[in-house]
Amino acid sequence: MGGNRELKKATEAYWAGKISAEELIQTGKNLRASHWKVQKDAGAGTIASNDFSFYDHVLDHIQLFNAVPNRYRKYNLPALDEFFAMGRGLQRAATDSTSAVDVPALEMVKWFDSNYHYVRPTLQDNQTFSLAADPKPVREFLEAKAQGVNTRPVLVGPVSFLHLGKPDRGASVDPITLLENLLPTYIELLAKLKEAGADTVQIDEPVLVLDLPSRTKAAFKTAYSKIAAAGVSIPQITVATYFGDIVHNIDVLPSLSTVSAIHVDLVRNPEQLDTVISALAPGQILSAGVVDGRNIWKTNFQEAISIVEKAIGALGADRVVVATSSSLLHTPHTLASEKKLPAEVADWFSFASEKAKEVAIIARAVTEGAASVKAEIDANAASMRSRATSARTNDPAVKERQSKVTAAMYERQSPFTGRIAAQQAHLGLPLFPTTTIGSFPQTKEIRVARQKFGKGDISATEYESFIEKEIELVVREQEALGLDVLVHGEPERNDMVQYFGERLTGYVFTNFGWVQSYGSRCVRPPIVVGDISRPAPMTVKESKYAASITSKPMKGMLTGPITCLRWSFPRDDVHQSVQAEQLALALRDEVVDLEAAGVNVIQVDEPALREGLPLRSGKERDAYLDWAVKSFRLATTGVKDVTQIHSHFCYSEFQDFFHAITALDADVLSIENSKSDAKLLKVFEDEAYPRHIGPGVYDIHSPRVPPQEEIKARIEEMLQFLKPQQLWINPDCGLKTRQWPETRAALDIMVKAAKEFRAKY
Ligand code: GLN
Ligand code: ZN
Repeated sequence: MGGNRELKKATEAYWAGKISAEELIQTGKNLRASHWKVQKDAGAGTIASNDFSFYDHVLDHIQLFNAVPNRYRKYNLPALDEFFAMGRGLQRAATDSTSAVDVPALEMVKWFDSNYHYVRPTLQDNQTFSLAADPKPVREFLEAKAQGVNTRPVLVGPVSFLHLGKPDRGASVDPITLLENLLPTYIELLAKLKEAGADTVQIDEPVLVLDLPSRTKAAFKTAYSKIAAAGVSIPQITVATYFGDIVHNIDVLPSLSTVSAIHVDLVRNPEQLDTVISALAPGQILSAGVVDGRNIWKTNFQEAISIVEKAIGALGADRVVVATSSSLLHTPHTLASEKKLPAEVADWFSFASEKAKEVAIIARAVTEGAASVKAEIDANAASMRSRATSARTNDPAVKERQSKVTAAMYERQSPFTGRIAAQQAHLGLPLFPTTTIGSFPQTKEIRVARQKFGKGDISATEYESFIEKEIELVVREQEALGLDVLVHGEPERNDMVQYFGERLTGYVFTNFGWVQSYGSRCVRPPIVVGDISRPAPMTVKESKYAASITSKPMKGMLTGPITCLRWSFPRDDVHQSVQAEQLALALRDEVVDLEAAGVNVIQVDEPALREGLPLRSGKERDAYLDWAVKSFRLATTGVKDVTQIHSHFCYSEFQDFFHAITALDADVLSIENSKSDAKLLKVFEDEAYPRHIGPGVYDIHSPRVPPQEEIKARIEEMLQFLKPQQLWINPDCGLKTRQWPETRAALDIMVKAAKEFRAKY
């Protein structure tokens, strides 16, 4: 993205018609040049090219292999516009010289277990492939070469490209069966790179860390033996894997014997080292990923060096490469931009530019000897000691409290069937109760007031009374709409994780620590640096005020422990389960305080629960679900039976871990279902799920106001799988990105639809 998110700014300006394609392309060129220089200056021996993308690197390959679905191709758009049309959709009226365009984006899905999203290849039955004219990897290799940088182009591997794809709408092809069609194009590309002067390429095959069907495993053998037998001159190949271990797929490695090096992630899975070493073919090089590409922590040099030395002991120095564990896409640009971090804490961090230097230092230490980088190693050891012994990382009161967590603290007073009657008597809700997910439109006035308060232009009292006015407005709107369970609307929240992080001890924040989420969208995750505790209530004032001005039930609104953890950079010095437990204890106090303040409906959002699922099924996944569920229960079970706990998830695919959803023991779940198949709700029927559930009845991501008939049809579908007594009526998710007119209109229709069903049952 660039240290200042230059790429985001330029692409968005291009989309808005404010800069030309040439200007955007020039921005890309400048960024690539500066990023090559960062790596060169850091002393990296191998520098990547083709790691740059205007939107997403998998999308680059869709165009590179001419696997563009015809619904885009048919418009004959310039390549750059076709590319963006696939990434984000394109709707454009006809002009004198061009016809109208109306095409939605390709599907975007999470990249492994990161918060990055890639564009999914959609493949046709009988899909053909061919190499795009002026292939991007060749062009960018030559661009770097002209600047005196000899790079290693990075490509998505043929097996991963297909495995990560899916059949297009209406097609039934199993993507992996297209391998034979794809390989000639792939080989042509490799030959062109060689011709251009590339001695080596990096081929990413990250799917090797997943559980793979046997067909996909077999595809590795086919792919790499065909590449080896191509009969044309191609660069040496490094096959790269990351985000997991490859031990369960180790039998695939021998078939890669034509490959000169294998890269593995030794940060996540250092224990795979021995197995990988013994599976290497004679002469094959190990690329040891020992600098974490997924977080912001300084590498522990001593540990990294000892791993690399172990590899050297087995293979010899000329067969070991030092590397980051993955690309540096998932970590912010440079620590040098952060002027406001506490000095003690800044010394513990290393962002992308600093990690590049770490790689070079570790390599020197193991080749020229530790003495050659003594100053760096000593400083690193001092920084590790400072972090280990800092009062920030060790709060005895937090540890003491964790040691006193008892089994009873995970349990509500009565099981759901016992407590629901108490809740219903207290809340007096009708059948098909209506509610919303928490936020209401974050208007310009709200953002302006927050900025003014941030800059000190208005006082805390002025800001608070502004927020109270906003809450009152939202409450009156909901009363007028006839909603049953109200919310305060979250006007005081900038972001659902940052807001809590700023009120907890143990977090710090960056000013420029942006990482790409998708396309031009970036997030700036807060950083967990130490033991977490809650010095004071975080949301009670706003919720209590909201409850005090209405006779309707008011729903308190919190972000759950897993989401607070997953959407931050977590610590790497204590297990995530420990951090989740600390967050849970802090939230538990908040939940109890809300109850004491008279708020008897409390929603604890956990949209990140599923993305934290370990990539492979089995022990690791079970262990994660165990501590994730426990942390949710610890946060929410401190209340009396009469208090109703809600939770919210932004999806409705629960098949893989339904037992965990049940185990949360939340009284009411709201989930995002309006765009998904209602059949996904069948699992709730099959498992005789007894609790209440609100599968969103309309999509909040678009300003479109759904017709009442559509909402009614949706509710009918839901009633095929859910009992009327358990069904809540709510939108898919929070309304913060919407405007008031469509929000009011859609909720009005939603409430009317609920009333019709109430009258029927
Ligand atoms: N309560 C949050 C909101 O309404 C939930 C957001 C989310 O699920 N991502 O904004
Ligand atoms: Zn949501």
